[in-house]
Amino acid sequence: MEKIQNYINGDLVPPMSGEYFNNISPSTGEVYSLIPDSDANDIDLAVSSAKDAFKIWSKLSKNERYDHIMHLADVIDEHFDDLVKAESKDNGKPEWLARAVDIPRASENFRFFATASLHFDSEIHEMDGKAINYTLRQPIGVAGCISPWNLPIYLLTWKIAPALAAGNTVVAKPSEITPMTAFHFSQICQKADFPNGVINIVHGFGNKAGDALSRHPDVPIISFTGGTITGEKIAAVAAPMFKKLSLELGGKNPNIVFEDADFDNAIKMAVKAAFSNQGQICLCGSRLFVQDSIYSDFKSAFVKETKSLKVGDPKDNTSNLGAIVSEEHMNKILSCIDHAKKEGGEILIGGKRLVLDGELKNGYYIEPTIIDGLSVDSQTNQEEIFGPVVSMIPFKTEEEVIDLANSTKFGLSASLFSRDISRAHRVAAAIDSGVVWVNTWMLRDLRIPFGGMKSSGVGREGGFKSLQFFTESKNVCIKI
Ligand code: NAD
Repeated sequence: MEKIQNYINGDLVPPMSGEYFNNISPSTGEVYSLIPDSDANDIDLAVSSAKDAFKIWSKLSKNERYDHIMHLADVIDEHFDDLVKAESKDNGKPEWLARAVDIPRASENFRFFATASLHFDSEIHEMDGKAINYTLRQPIGVAGCISPWNLPIYLLTWKIAPALAAGNTVVAKPSEITPMTAFHFSQICQKADFPNGVINIVHGFGNKAGDALSRHPDVPIISFTGGTITGEKIAAVAAPMFKKLSLELGGKNPNIVFEDADFDNAIKMAVKAAFSNQGQICLCGSRLFVQDSIYSDFKSAFVKETKSLKVGDPKDNTSNLGAIVSEEHMNKILSCIDHAKKEGGEILIGGKRLVLDGELKNGYYIEPTIIDGLSVDSQTNQEEIFGPVVSMIPFKTEEEVIDLANSTKFGLSASLFSRDISRAHRVAAAIDSGVVWVNTWMLRDLRIPFGGMKSSGVGREGGFKSLQFFTESKNVCIKI
C-alpha cells in the first residue's frame, strides 16, 4: 500500500515515529494509502529546515522568487490530470469539479501571488518638510499553514503561495482526511527543483502535528482555515505567544431571494450554492430565505431542480454530486437531518444515505436535502452542517430578512437576488458578513479582501491583504 511521506528540507521522509494511519477513499470506503502520524519531532525538524531556508529565500530578489514560483506553477500544470484524479479519489468530489475548480486554482494561486509580489509596495508619510516616514514590509519567518479537507490543494496553495511570494518559508499541515494532493504537490516541488526547505509539508492529526505547529516558538505567523472550534483552540495557543494569526472559519450563509429577482437565475444559483461540492464549501448558502409572495412557486421549482441532480460515481461526468468526505462526516450530516426532523422540520426532498452499486456500495453518499418549516433560531438554522442540506425560510420584508440573516453567530458570506439595485446596495451593506454576492454566488476575484466576521474568522486574505498579512510592516522616520 502506498505510504504518503512528509516533505522536509526537499526530501520525502517517513514520520520519525514510523507510525501511519489509514487513508480512505470516500467514494468506495476502501483504505488505499497510509498517512504519516507525525508528531512534534517531525514538526521540529520541518521548522528547523524552514528556518535555515528563510535566511536565503528571504534575501532573494522579488524577481528571483517570482521565477521559482512561476516555474512551480508550470510544473503543477504538467501534472494536471493526475492531480484531478487524486483530488477526486481522496475527497469524493466529482472529477469534473476538481478539473474545473480545484486544480486550476492551485497553479493560479502561485501565479497570482508571484505576480502580485512584483506590484506590492508600501506607504510614505511626509511630515510637512520636517521628516519623511516610509514603511518597509518585510518577510516574517517560518509561516505555519493549516488547511481543511473540503478544497484540499486549492486552500493549501492559497496559503503557501502568498507566504512564499512575500519572502517567508513554510511548514504546512494539510488535512489528515485529504492528504493525497499535498503529497503529489511535494513530489511536484522536487520535480521543479524548488529550493530545499522553503516549503515543508508535515502530515498527521490536527491535535498532534497541527497543535505542535501552532505552538512552535519558531513559527511566528499562522494562517488557518477550518472549523470555528479548531480556530478557537489555535487562537488560545497562538495569542499568548503573540503570533500573527489569520483565521478563516465556518459559515451558515444566508441566500436571500426577493420577489423581484430573476426567478430562473435565483433557482439556478440556489441549487449551486446549496449543493456544490456536496454542500461542503464554507461559502455554501445553507439558509435559503425567500419572500413570501413567491415562496410556494420557488419551493416547487427548487425541489424540481434538486430532483434532477444526480449523486453518483465521482469519475462519471454526469454526476452532479459525489461522495461525502468521510464516514464520520456523513454520519454527522445524517444526524443533523434527524435532528431537523425532531425540531419539526419537513424534509421536502432527500434526507437519506444513498447506497450505490458495485465498488461504490460502501461509499459515503447522501441525497441532496431540502428542509422546510423550521424557525430561524432552530439548531438546524443556527449551526453549520457542512453537507448537501439546505433549509428554506420565508420572509415578508427587507427589514425582517436582514434581522433573520444576521441571527447566527457566523458572518462569512451572503447572496441576495433582486432587480432593485438600491435595495441590493442597502441589504448588502446591512448584512454582517465579509463577502456579499448580488445576483450570483461564489464569483471569486482573487484580489478582493476575503474573510469572515463574528465567529467566521479574524482577518482578511486575498490580493495585497495576503501579502500584508505575510509581512511585518516597519516604519522608518528620516528627519530632514
Ligand atoms: P478542522 O478545523 O477540523 O480542520 C482543519 C485543519 O486544522 C486540519 O488540517 C486539521 O488537522 C487541523 N487541526 C485540527 N485540530 C487542530 C488543532 N488543535 N491545532 C492545530 N490544527 C488543528 O476543519 P475541517 O473539518 O477540515 O474543515 C471544515 C471546516 O472548515 C468547516 O467549518 C468550514 O466552514 C471551514 N472552512 C472555512 C473556509 C473559509 O475560508 N472561511 C474555507 C473552507 C473551510
